[in-house]
Amino acid sequence: MFSLTGVHLHPTWKRVEDDFVMGACSRRLFGYVSRDPEGVWSAFDEEARVVAAGVDLREVSEALWAHHLATHDDHCAPAGEAPWWRRPIRVARERHVASAR
Ligand SMILES: [Zn+2]
Repeated sequence: MFSLTGVHLHPTWKRVEDDFVMGACSRRLFGYVSRDPEGVWSAFDEEARVVAAGVDLREVSEALWAHHLATHDDHCAPAGEAPWWRRPIRVARERHVASAR
């Protein structure tokens, strides 16, 4: 299901290797796309399940993004909270202590 907040989201694609691309939403990594020796791209969600496959990287990655948007609200951190990679280390450490109680 698409939400109103999801409309404003955009994925960030990080090309790690020629044949490996990682995708992140505003909160966290949500999956990756890799190319097999035949040139076919496969998109995997965060549980390593194949979501889409094809020779067009753009189409495959967009399918992965659409797949993630359907679960973003349920699985990603609530809006208003900074992504973990943008939090100062000090804050992250406090959070760790708090969750250990
Ligand atoms: Zn998300």
